[in-house]
Amino acid sequence: MFPEVMERIANASKRSGRNIEDITLVAVTKGRSLQEIETAVLSHGHRILAENRIQEWRKKASSLKGIEWHLVGNLQRNKVKYCTEANLIHSLNSHKLADALELQGLKLNHRFRTLIEVNMTGEATKLGIEPENAAALLDYTRTLKHVSVEGLMGMAPFNPNPEMSRASFQRLRKLCNELGLSVLSMGMSGDFEVAIEEGATIVRIGSSLFL
Ligand SMILES: *Cc1c(COP(=O)(O)O)cnc(C)c1O
Repeated sequence: MFPEVMERIANASKRSGRNIEDITLVAVTKGRSLQEIETAVLSHGHRILAENRIQEWRKKASSLKGIEWHLVGNLQRNKVKYCTEANLIHSLNSHKLADALELQGLKLNHRFRTLIEVNMTGEATKLGIEPENAAALLDYTRTLKHVSVEGLMGMAPFNPNPEMSRASFQRLRKLCNELGLSVLSMGMSGDFEVAIEEGATIVRIGSSLFL
């Protein structure tokens, strides 16, 4: 439920001496119908939403107006051309994707705002770049005119106990500071309070909003 999530965000920010205005809730609406989104999110006046699949997002975006859209899923290079309506792409994870964004940005006269997605699991997955390679990707994007990197995004390895995410979040915040970036997208339904305590500026919450 939206009010309960907002209250938990407020409590976590108070507890950790943070200003609630420095934390943005991105409501993850993947897999939800327009009606569900209206009831669970829009009816509370919230307008910052995220999707993870381009096709599903485009359908929803054509029906819902006045939304600040974020993209949080793995982005394929051939879909980049559809992404100019996204306010923030959370999943820049390779030089190749940066190149694809630069090419389309040049064609469409658009500057893509992005976060570098960092792999926090220590496993070889496609979910993000290895932490030690983030600086090189950031340096590379600084040579590009149509891609800006504003921060980092990460997901803690899945664990039902949110305390198990804390060390991952601390590492991601440290990396964010070292790189001189200001936006830190971390924390989902299972662990957003810990993420806020550890410095998240964006929390991406889906299921808790739709309970
Ligand atoms: C689905 C998703 C979320 C939201 O997850 P919940 O556990 O439903 O809150 C956050 N980030 C990403 C990248 C997602 O795909």
